Amino acid sequence: MIIILKSGATDEQIDHVIERVESMGLRAHLSRGTHRTIIGVIGDESQFKPDSFQVLPGVADVIRVLPAYKLASLDAHPEPSVVTMGKVKIGGGHLGMIAGPCAVESAERMDAIAGSVRAAGANILRGGAFKPRTSPYAFQGMGEDGLKILRDTGDKHGMPIVTEVMDPRCVELVERYTDMIQIGARNMQNFVLLTEVGRTNKPVLLKRGMSATIVDLLMSAEYILSQGNPNVVLCERGVKGFDTSTRNLYDVAAVPACKGLSHLPIIVDPSHATGRPDLIPPCALAGVAAGADGVHIEVHNCPEEAMSDGPQALLPNQYTELAAQIRALSAIVGKSISNSPGSK
Ligand code: PEP
Ligand code: MN
Repeated sequence: MIIILKSGATDEQIDHVIERVESMGLRAHLSRGTHRTIIGVIGDESQFKPDSFQVLPGVADVIRVLPAYKLASLDAHPEPSVVTMGKVKIGGGHLGMIAGPCAVESAERMDAIAGSVRAAGANILRGGAFKPRTSPYAFQGMGEDGLKILRDTGDKHGMPIVTEVMDPRCVELVERYTDMIQIGARNMQNFVLLTEVGRTNKPVLLKRGMSATIVDLLMSAEYILSQGNPNVVLCERGVKGFDTSTRNLYDVAAVPACKGLSHLPIIVDPSHATGRPDLIPPCALAGVAAGADGVHIEVHNCPEEAMSDGPQALLPNQYTELAAQIRALSAIVGKSISNSPGSK
């Protein structure tokens, strides 16, 4: 931590700041420049509250040297983390291929979609049983029946499953069925929910909030990590923009930006980021080229009948074509795809 003093700070004010630092068991290193005086704070910063120094007379600014997302940072863990679900790995050179419908709608439909995405090379099956809908009158998901269908379908096709939990009271239920718990964009800063999933031992897919900064995303990951669950995968799924041409603004730069700050794997979701089937393939490939550790895509065999997000669903044959392109690109960027038909 560095404390920058105002240009007119008096010796008395500077001494007071130093006394406060030392009273916390830390050391203060005073450096007087021609224009500015700064105090370097040395020691364990964890007990140091920047705000309590910011308010002291004579203090201009307090700057953290170490990020507040201690466990998520590269300082804590310089090697990329790998998250494992059975035979599937995400991160550290392993690409996750997550695919499936927005919502679980019926056993027959889930089976048909799973069969096609599995044959195309997907290695994780998705489907929402609890859907976060803008309207309370829209389809809210099948609940536990949906979880059962997703579990059975994943088992039948040899794929781990991922599904969203929205309510801390449902974490235990969802945990019982799923291999990976999804925290949706709307709940990225539901800190009670993050704490609850942090207490499980299930991998967590943490989607970036639509108005969240990259540091906000990492702070939310920190909530999960701080509870003892190290298995967090970040997901860039677009942020609010001003242009209505796309559903959200796909922030592909977030991928390498996160990698410069954190060891956690990060995947991309061009389905929710763009909301447009014509833009999903190029944006998926851009994500992999930018270093993403996985691609999350919504696929439906009959989008006009989909209960949610039909307009952004890829058809199975479109997904098959895209999956082949992702495989070709993954070889170029040095990534492998575990437990995926068609991959080595
Ligand atoms: C979803 O995955 O279907 C979903 C609702 O995603 P997001 O939270 O990114 O909007
Ligand atoms: Mn969706």
